Amino acid sequence: MEKEIWLKLKIWKKSKKMNKKKSLKNFNTFRVDVFCDNFLEIKREQDLISFFEKNKRRNFLILGGGSNILFSKNFKGTILKNKLKGIKILKKENGNIFLEAGSGENWHNLVYFCMRKNFWGLENLALIPGEVGGAVFGNIGAYGLEIKDKIFSVEVYDMEKKKTKVYKNTKKFFSYRNSYFKKNRGRFFILKVVFKLSEKFEPILRYKDLKEVFKNKNKEKITGKNIFEAVVKIRKKKLPDLQKFPNNGSFFKNPEISKKISSEILKIDPEVKFWEQENGKIKISAGYLIESIGFKRKKIGNVGTYQKHALVLINFGEAKGSKIKKFSEKIKREVFKKYGILLEEEVFIV
Ligand SMILES: Cc1cc2nc3c(=O)[nH]c(=O)nc-3n(C[C@H](O)[C@H](O)[C@H](O)COP(=O)(O)OP(=O)(O)OC[C@H]3O[C@@H](n4cnc5c(N)ncnc54)[C@H](O)[C@@H]3O)c2cc1C
Repeated sequence: MEKEIWLKLKIWKKSKKMNKKKSLKNFNTFRVDVFCDNFLEIKREQDLISFFEKNKRRNFLILGGGSNILFSKNFKGTILKNKLKGIKILKKENGNIFLEAGSGENWHNLVYFCMRKNFWGLENLALIPGEVGGAVFGNIGAYGLEIKDKIFSVEVYDMEKKKTKVYKNTKKFFSYRNSYFKKNRGRFFILKVVFKLSEKFEPILRYKDLKEVFKNKNKEKITGKNIFEAVVKIRKKKLPDLQKFPNNGSFFKNPEISKKISSEILKIDPEVKFWEQENGKIKISAGYLIESIGFKRKKIGNVGTYQKHALVLINFGEAKGSKIKKFSEKIKREVFKKYGILLEEEVFIV
């Protein structure tokens, strides 16, 4: 009898442990202290398959480095924390390197690995927080390059069809901070990514800050390592230190509008900063719009904009996710009131 009670107690304790609510404070770069009902580490594809076999209707969220997610409340469901690791050289062919990376690899570590091996192509994207899966999902971009330009294929687990599939990269797959996977949120778990890199280095100096660094240097003499180091240096100078100022990088996307609308905007504010795109559209600086509504260095409670860049929202203390969300909604309302432009979040609000 005693043994039976002891066994029941053991089972009860085990089930309590499995369902124990877990704080996500160390799993999101806003450092918002919210809880999830369940937390499951995905170390192998089989972990995913088992999860979906057992939990047909379960609410879930895939989590990478948490650098593009704002938790505005506790998450009522299971967090699938990506732990799929591994970097493998698949083949070298005609000066190209086909490199496979597990989606749970840290993004910057992968860029650093490539730099050390003289595999070129990713160096302009150094020091972006997060993991490989999150980077592909959101088609990260910086300093004149988007990740899409270096992706050869993406292997996913299709959670609807319950099978793995490899997608070759095509032009239709990615757009500005968007991907086929993001458009079908909740359907695909990105497992592995193959990058097509090069043994021959070709500098990308489209972005003005990089152009400025190398303006007196002969293009032939610039190395990939030079670019990697310059990007790291510029980013450290421009962006807030995540340890001191928890944030998610750019909170909003830079709005893309037609030429016709841009001339209307210029009538409202002739100082507006914009760039012409290859697709004929005009991209407006969301940072400028936010500053122009008086949100430069604005702070409400523990939430505010970064002093050097109004597009970056900061958790200055123990701000709740709901307060950060509220602050962002205020920005959206004010920008819309002044310019008639509806800002779209780059950050995913849960
Ligand atoms: C200081 C700072 C600077 C930044 N600078 C830049 C920049 O220059 N350029 C830029 O583009 N971004 C930038 N970001 C944003 C962010 O780093 C990127 O979007 C990053 O790639 C997100 O990756 P993550 O692993 O943190 O994703 P998470 O935040 O964990 O997740 C983001 C989204 O991707 C989904 N996801 C994650 N992994 C997978 C997977 N394996 N399969 C399917 N879905 C998945 C999640 O469900 C979620 O919807 C910056 C952020 C910070 C904090």
